[in-house]
Amino acid sequence: MDRERKRSMGNKYRIAAILLVVLFSACNEAAKKTAPVVKVEIPKVPEVKEIVEFGFKLNDYIVKRDTIKSGDSFGHILGRNNVGYSTIHNIVESAKNTFDIRSLQLGKPYTLLCAKDSLETPECFIYQPNLEDYVVIDFKDSIQTYADKKPINYIEKSATGVINSSISETLEEQGLSPRLAFKLADEIYAWTIDFRRLQKGDRFKVIYTDKYIDDSIYTGVHNIKAAYFEHNSEPFYAFAFETDAEKGIVDYFNEDAKNLRRAFLKAPVQFSRISSRYNLKRRIAVYGYKLRPHKGTDFAAPIGTPIMATANGTVTKSERRGGNGNYVKIRHNATYETQYLHMRKRNVRVGDYVKQGDVIGWVGMTGNTGGPHVCYRFWVNGKQVDPFKQKLPQAQSISDSLKIEYLEFIKPIKEQLDDIPFEVKPELIEEPERETVRQSSQNLIS
Ligand SMILES: [Zn+2]
Repeated sequence: MDRERKRSMGNKYRIAAILLVVLFSACNEAAKKTAPVVKVEIPKVPEVKEIVEFGFKLNDYIVKRDTIKSGDSFGHILGRNNVGYSTIHNIVESAKNTFDIRSLQLGKPYTLLCAKDSLETPECFIYQPNLEDYVVIDFKDSIQTYADKKPINYIEKSATGVINSSISETLEEQGLSPRLAFKLADEIYAWTIDFRRLQKGDRFKVIYTDKYIDDSIYTGVHNIKAAYFEHNSEPFYAFAFETDAEKGIVDYFNEDAKNLRRAFLKAPVQFSRISSRYNLKRRIAVYGYKLRPHKGTDFAAPIGTPIMATANGTVTKSERRGGNGNYVKIRHNATYETQYLHMRKRNVRVGDYVKQGDVIGWVGMTGNTGGPHVCYRFWVNGKQVDPFKQKLPQAQSISDSLKIEYLEFIKPIKEQLDDIPFEVKPELIEEPERETVRQSSQNLIS
């Protein structure tokens, strides 16, 4: 009996024990599922992050930052920060061969590194004339003055886009810098693609570098390494290549090593709109629909827009006369001449040598004109022609010795460019065809 009871008791205990284990593990499972795991860590003394700027460990100082205010001078700033006159005098004397303390500019930032003592005695003055450069006047022990630059980082990026209305709009939609549009339109494709006449569906890829100062300050697009532009279904490759390392000359060439630049710019103003083309059969209402040939190309642009010389040359006319208003004429060589009319103001004189892209004046409304624009005239061998119908001379091509090097150089870049897919935005596919907005051409008289 006893033994039997014991056995049954034993069984009971065993069952209870099994149940307990089952329950316990079940609870444990439940606990694991519901309650988050709490990790207990031994509290650490918070580590002070070392902050280094201008080559100094800022943690070691009381850092005072400010900007140069009206009436501030180096002496005033140090004076009101408990630096004695004789010390200031010594600093100025010592620093003068390296940095002119009178060149401090209103609004520019400066930093004082001060000792962690009760007087907070300044030990170092740092001035930043721009985001990149800084000047250090260290007078902790001996006086040292030197200039340095903040660390700069270039980050390579790529972008693609499909033109719906304008390149600026396409870039804006993607939050990309308008500088990319400027560089593509004015530095790379200014001679090959007319960006005022882009087609809906034209598309591009671009590999470029962004510039950062101190890893944090974005200063914009630094340069374009390579680009691909499909205009009217025709591909245009562009690769940046340094043709002269000594002079630092970088040009853009296509996949066959042809220079994309021409001797002439396509337009004398940036981002303008052609309001009236070269047209020998033009008839104008105000002249009773009489034939008034237009031997220029009118580029409408806001008053004050800079007008650029479209090629290197010598100024042969710069004056104000009759219907031309303020105008400039340039002789480029024995064959070519260009003229720019209706300027608000001229920026060159007869005899000046100008380079392609130099500002020769600003858009205005002087002379016979119905609105602000520049009338651009183009002569070949003394005869006025339509520059858009001309096969303009190419800029300097790549030398034969460099050509092999160039083709090797672009090989991996071209592959990289070709591998970038065009992003297709689903919402854009769904969108009904928009009618291309055509700007009505004004009858500008010039
Ligand atoms: Zn005109």
